[in-house]
Amino acid sequence: MPAIWDLPDFDSHEAVHVFEDCDSGLKAIIAVHSTHLGPAAGGTRFWHYADSQAAITDALRLSRGMSYKNAMADLPAGGGKAVILANPQRAKPQDMLDAFARAVDSLGGKYITAQDVGMSEADMVSLSKVTDHVAGLPHQGGDPGPYTARGVYLGVQAAAKHALGTNDMRGVHVAIQGVGSVGGGLARYLAEQGARLTLADVDAKRAGELAAELGGEAVAADAIMDIEADIFSPCALGAILTEATVAGLKVKAVAGGANNQLATGPEGKMLADRGILYAPDYVINAGGIINVLRHIDNANDDEINRRIDAIPGRLAAVWAESDASGATPAEVADKMAQKLIGR
Ligand code: NAD
Repeated sequence: MPAIWDLPDFDSHEAVHVFEDCDSGLKAIIAVHSTHLGPAAGGTRFWHYADSQAAITDALRLSRGMSYKNAMADLPAGGGKAVILANPQRAKPQDMLDAFARAVDSLGGKYITAQDVGMSEADMVSLSKVTDHVAGLPHQGGDPGPYTARGVYLGVQAAAKHALGTNDMRGVHVAIQGVGSVGGGLARYLAEQGARLTLADVDAKRAGELAAELGGEAVAADAIMDIEADIFSPCALGAILTEATVAGLKVKAVAGGANNQLATGPEGKMLADRGILYAPDYVINAGGIINVLRHIDNANDDEINRRIDAIPGRLAAVWAESDASGATPAEVADKMAQKLIGR
């Protein structure tokens, strides 16, 4: 196994903390990518990994991703991420949560945690009884979904402007993959503005009912990426843009809330080569984290709205630089984020 500095995803992390608590069975990693702009903020993932190497890789990638996302959202926060290595049964006893909270606390606020895959709201409340360094608690704004949905809606509007040359969403055809918290909220905003909607969800009933309510059309989950539309909005899973799916897209732009949409990275270039505008995921979907981190600088509702309203302008800046330089929007966003965090 290579030294941690030699791992491809290490990317000059400021610190990578490894914790073990023999009594509770806790094994956790807290990766702090950057504190250049403020305390490293990012969620805690509770997951059963194939091995500890996979857990380290996940922590490093997610942590760097949070640095970029928080920087591009203009937040006074750096980037970090924690992973707790679950056993195959995914047992999460209270003493393990307490031990993890003590681990977070031991970093003295250098890392601020929040909810991520495998952690419930109740788990976060439990952590907050041991450490102050927990964000996004129910009394601090709760569900980030509606905030993410609003930012994604503004980003979809910006994509329509850039790729279709229109400020008017009436008749603009948007195909949405996944109509949960983010995709469902986005569909409602778009319907209000007269957009034409095609919706899909693995929960076909959910897509069908929303389509009936909003006057759109529902299609099978495996058909949504074949729809001829103006904009494809992925709001379900990550890694859905692969060589094969990009080749089959019949849209002018991809703009949606899902995390890590590009399966391996080069798909960004494939989209550009096909003349399809891409809204970098961590720029367009930052509305939720903007609200989750509101307590870092005591931002009030007006400030939260102002920060979310800045998302389309940031996308426009990415696309303008992409048009001027020939670099893909994903590459431009990464470069802008790196500059903001002093890399
Ligand atoms: P959610 O669970 O509320 O909704 C996801 C929906 O996608 C569900 O209705 C699910 O049935 C559906 N789905 C799952 N697999 C699908 C598939 N293959 N095809 C079609 N539909 C499928 O989740 P959410 O909070 O709306 O998040 C959606 C995406 O946005 C995720 O990738 C998430 O990581 C990302 N995201 C969410 C937030 C947030 O604030 N909630 C913030 C940033 C990024």
